[in-house]
Amino acid sequence: MTGPLPLKAIADSVRSGARTSVDVATEYLDRIERGAALGAFLAVDRARTLAEAAAVDARVARGEALPLAGVPVAVKDNIHAVGFTTTCASRMLEGFRPPFDATVVEKLRAAGAVVLGKTNLDEFAMGSSTENSAYVACRNPWATDRIPGGSSGGSAAAVAANLAPAALGSDTGGSIRQPAALTGTVGLKPTYGRVSRFGLVAFGSSLDQVGPMTRRVEDAAMLHDVLSGHDPKDATTSARPHAPTAPHVGDGVRGLRIGLPDEYFGDAVDSEIRASVESAGRALEAAGAVLKRVSLPHTPHAIPTYYIVATSEASSNLARYDGVHYGRRHPEAVDIASLFTGSRSAYLGKEVKRRILLGTWCLSSGFYDAFYDRALRIRSLLKADFDAAFRDVDLVLCPTTPTPAWRLGEKISDPVQMYVADILTGACNLAGIPGLVVPCGTTGQKDTRLPIGAQLLGPAWSESLLLRAGAVIEAACWDPSFVPSFGSAS
Ligand code: GLN
Repeated sequence: MTGPLPLKAIADSVRSGARTSVDVATEYLDRIERGAALGAFLAVDRARTLAEAAAVDARVARGEALPLAGVPVAVKDNIHAVGFTTTCASRMLEGFRPPFDATVVEKLRAAGAVVLGKTNLDEFAMGSSTENSAYVACRNPWATDRIPGGSSGGSAAAVAANLAPAALGSDTGGSIRQPAALTGTVGLKPTYGRVSRFGLVAFGSSLDQVGPMTRRVEDAAMLHDVLSGHDPKDATTSARPHAPTAPHVGDGVRGLRIGLPDEYFGDAVDSEIRASVESAGRALEAAGAVLKRVSLPHTPHAIPTYYIVATSEASSNLARYDGVHYGRRHPEAVDIASLFTGSRSAYLGKEVKRRILLGTWCLSSGFYDAFYDRALRIRSLLKADFDAAFRDVDLVLCPTTPTPAWRLGEKISDPVQMYVADILTGACNLAGIPGLVVPCGTTGQKDTRLPIGAQLLGPAWSESLLLRAGAVIEAACWDPSFVPSFGSAS
């Protein structure tokens, strides 16, 4: 096999002694250095990662059965990993060292994975381009003058450029799926409650999920199986046992009914993207699935509803960054009021402040009924749309983004333009259902080929079906071993 190996092959090579975990980690740390201009990582610590890798080698030598033996995983910098800072790409948390691992990181480490570093994001995961990072804008390895999507843009860019074989992202309104689509990688947003959020810095608590970002569908399944399950430290995780998905990734789609929602194929979506996703549909049909048109009539309300619910929850979650509980403290504060306002004014970025103001407004007395309460009612209509569709079909196939990756700076001065880019991803979080993005083609411009991602949505707990369908699309439409040369950064 040429090109980057599947995670299973990396783990097999470490378990068999063909390579050490230290060899594998060194190879990726070297690539991260060569790809530094992409701005994919906020923290890398070679000595720390190599020490983790050496500990894995010792566990392998002792005969421990490690499903992810020596697999390096990059972690989005809003997820705690002991040994690394968690900044959320915010000045507010500059230098913050978490005293504990997120449950997802604890599970990865227990399975033999090694933390490769912390990846760039939009500040507190608020954004769709990774330009809202307070540290450095991240670039798309397919065209370095373009954004990699967001907010998990660093994780997506790292995986696309093969600076990491896999990464963790978080998805509140599309932050795993949209950057996956824009970088030609695979991203899974699990069912709400499938994966622990303990140690994920909260943004929108009724929406947030952690999930894998990988080069291949089988890799996403493998990580999803490690990450999933009930966590006593997160009351929102489900007690429902997790049925492993990886053994079924190759089971195919014969007899599955797959819906194409009219509202996701409208004129607002680039014609090349529509055509590419339709060809993914034909690949599913050729593999024995039955395609049907379906309707999700409340889709036009998804964006306003998402931006009310998400900002309302954010305004409450971000109240903890007050210069006392968490985060930096303004040095010139003289009393409690100037401590709060001084610290928040100085260390939170523009977009984060905008969200806090919007959310506080939506929740304030006199406006609560007109905004927050109404958004919750529309949220249940969006969920009812999916419930109705899933009585007719097993899964839904649709585009992930209305356009391919745009240029850095193109939307940064117009927040509404940026919000509208989430039109095809937000409803999934509002409904709590799982979503998988699989690359299905590229745009055809002469000088720049940009990836296109097909999005599969299914009822709660249908990750296994999504991954099966995703594997069919991948086999027919994509070469997961292709690594873009990312310009001078390579
Ligand atoms: N782009 C969306 C937002 O800005 C989604 C972010 C996310 O999923 N974390 O809120």
